[in-house]
Amino acid sequence: MTPARRLLPGFAGAVHLPGDAGYEEHRRPLFTPIDQRPALVAEATSAQDVRAAVVAARDAGLTLAVQATGHGTHAPCDGGLLLRTSHMGGVLLDPRRRVARVGPGARWGQVITAAEPFGLAPVSGSHAGVGVTGYTLGGGLGWLSRAYGFAADSVLRAQVVTADGRLVTADPGSHPDLYWALRGGGGNFGVVTSLEFRLHPVARVFTGAACFPVERADEMLAFYRDWITGLPDELSTALSLTSMPEDPQVPPPVRGRRVVQLKVLYAGSADQGRRLLRPLWRAAGPALTEDFHTLPYAGASMGGIAPGQVELLRELPDSAIAAITGVAGPDDGPAVEIRHWGGAMGRPSPDAGPAGHRTTRLSVIADAGSAVLADALRAHTSGGAFLNFLHDPTRTAQAYTAADHRRLSAVKRRYDPDNTFGVTHNIPPSSRGEVARPVGAGYGAAAGRRAAPGQAQP
Ligand SMILES: Cc1cc2nc3c(=O)[nH]c(=O)nc-3n(C[C@H](O)[C@H](O)[C@H](O)COP(=O)(O)OP(=O)(O)OC[C@H]3O[C@@H](n4cnc5c(N)ncnc54)[C@H](O)[C@@H]3O)c2cc1C
Repeated sequence: MTPARRLLPGFAGAVHLPGDAGYEEHRRPLFTPIDQRPALVAEATSAQDVRAAVVAARDAGLTLAVQATGHGTHAPCDGGLLLRTSHMGGVLLDPRRRVARVGPGARWGQVITAAEPFGLAPVSGSHAGVGVTGYTLGGGLGWLSRAYGFAADSVLRAQVVTADGRLVTADPGSHPDLYWALRGGGGNFGVVTSLEFRLHPVARVFTGAACFPVERADEMLAFYRDWITGLPDELSTALSLTSMPEDPQVPPPVRGRRVVQLKVLYAGSADQGRRLLRPLWRAAGPALTEDFHTLPYAGASMGGIAPGQVELLRELPDSAIAAITGVAGPDDGPAVEIRHWGGAMGRPSPDAGPAGHRTTRLSVIADAGSAVLADALRAHTSGGAFLNFLHDPTRTAQAYTAADHRRLSAVKRRYDPDNTFGVTHNIPPSSRGEVARPVGAGYGAAAGRRAAPGQAQP
């Protein structure tokens, strides 16, 4: 038996130790600058493998980090066990019940493709390569969220390997506290080995973009702020102040130009979509370019801005608009997207999970941090963050209301008292009989509780 196999008895998938041929390739996340050096990397092939890995990590006093695609890895797994789930990417559909069940390695593109022939769609996000499970555990804000809520709101059931090595079902009737926490609480409570969620009757959508001169940004934003009140939930829009590339494929009127770009996805007819949008044109003037189509949901490509800075706003007064256009109007400013939330996200069911800040009216996402923008928006922000857009794990507590964070810490104490799943946007377990408190700073310590690097006080 190889040394790697001895470390993980009962584990059928590949295991890579430092120095092994596969270690360098498998230790890295995809999209982040994290240069992590785990003690070992294990590629799970089944729920049994996941159990074997969790038990081995616990017995060896190692932290355990889960990675499906690496799109959302913001805390390094140094000296711990990195469990990769990309080989567990199965997708099963029950179109009659409008339900999908996926393995922890599944990506949104697989679900979208499988659901399309049945006129169904998930609450997926802006990129088909993102992992379904990581996205959903972090809340999941998609272009159908105004109509159907956060992706977490569509979760029906999860199978989870908890820190004590049990494989449990979390749903309204079984481990309801864990079911609640998983719907927004991230990867803190165990390793999800399968996720079951609702699909929605969305076959075709009216979608596309229009670009306007950036000089119209102040008027457009002021109009947008009022116009979004009372829009149907099926309509999702965003305005971006951005520079179009100097690319021959970009239409000449906007090539290499700073613009205000309106992005639209409407789960309804083209006629009604155009009628709903028309007032914006009255405020913005003629568009430089327009490109709208009715497409299958699978063909809609919404893109998004890589979040260097994210602010969640309750209101958008003129002073905030002036700050946004002052920072993002000039050619060399950051790209900034103002996106309308609300709709079903703001009307959670009584047992909804802790995903998101549901009173958020608009998010402002900049691709680079700006102190000027932050200062100008401070008075109008909720002070909150959205877990999936948060790259700084020390701000994890800000993704929740204080009450939800306390409840999450209590659930954490029940399911992962030693913080085995601490290498993530960490929610520390609360102390016995107390409200949530941070755990000690001994990340990777073999005994006692572990804290993720940079763990912030909630
Ligand atoms: C290009 C791009 C576009 C994006 N667009 C959106 C968007 O439109 N809306 C939105 O809400 N978010 C969006 N995100 C953010 C994305 O949802 C998060 O980064 C999410 O964490 C990615 O999950 P993953 O599994 O792909 O990544 P991974 O890095 O593999 O996992 C991220 C974290 O998820 C947890 N996790 C993953 N699998 C499991 C499991 N089986 N059990 C327990 N925990 C697990 C772990 O804590 C892990 O650290 C986007 C990210 C990128 C890079």
